[in-house]
Amino acid sequence: MLKTVNLHKKYNDFTALHSLNLEVKKGEIFALLGQNGAGKSTTINILLGLIKATSGDAFINDISVKEEPQKIKKHLAYIPETVLLYPNLTGIENLDFFSKIAGFVYQKDELSALLKRTGLQETAHEKALGGYSKGMRQKVGIAIALAKDAKVLLLDEPTSGLDPIATAEFTEIVRQLGKEGRTVLMATHDIFNAVSVATDIGIMKQGELVQNLPSKAFTAHELQELYLKTI
Ligand code: ATP
Repeated sequence: MLKTVNLHKKYNDFTALHSLNLEVKKGEIFALLGQNGAGKSTTINILLGLIKATSGDAFINDISVKEEPQKIKKHLAYIPETVLLYPNLTGIENLDFFSKIAGFVYQKDELSALLKRTGLQETAHEKALGGYSKGMRQKVGIAIALAKDAKVLLLDEPTSGLDPIATAEFTEIVRQLGKEGRTVLMATHDIFNAVSVATDIGIMKQGELVQNLPSKAFTAHELQELYLKTI
């Protein structure tokens, strides 16, 4: 469902990605670990079409990012560390607005049902986003992805700054996305969360994928040891 083939990115003389080959199959949740500067965000930004690869290509559902960037956007949803929404609009209004931008029009009860699927309490649906916690904003971000029926979700450090309860809730939502057959690529520094939610773990080092293993093979402690040995 998601694939990078010899993906190479240079920023002037600096090589941020060295022939990155990565594959995430339908329904898999792939946690991409790596130190600051390893190339995780660069990979996500190329998939989103925000930056261009120097060479190589990436594919979503066999569609080339290089050849058909607009078509790719229909399949993708991006949840950054901080989901940017309109603070003066309510949860429902934000969801309505961003769904319409993506070309989907829903009735109010359908919007409410989408928010409920992410676990956002009903009492919050009609409240202004400005008063939402980070975890609540992320739930609206996920609801927007569901409204678009995105088949692939790209998450950049989604649990950073979330408290343990919000992290557990978020983990459950991501697990559910995988069960629904959606594909998730998640850049993260959270080893515990990676082991608990991901089906596959990749470790990047200086723009290369140096480990690619099923998460079942590890406890969080073992993954931490491997991570420290690898980087
Ligand atoms: P973090 O965990 O801190 O988010 P990351 O793994 O996402 O790190 P990237 O943001 O992809 O890493 O950065 C990879 C490398 O490319 C870093 O050395 C970074 O300084 C460099 N880099 C990223 N964007 C640019 C840019 N626009 N111009 C020059 N260098 C860049």
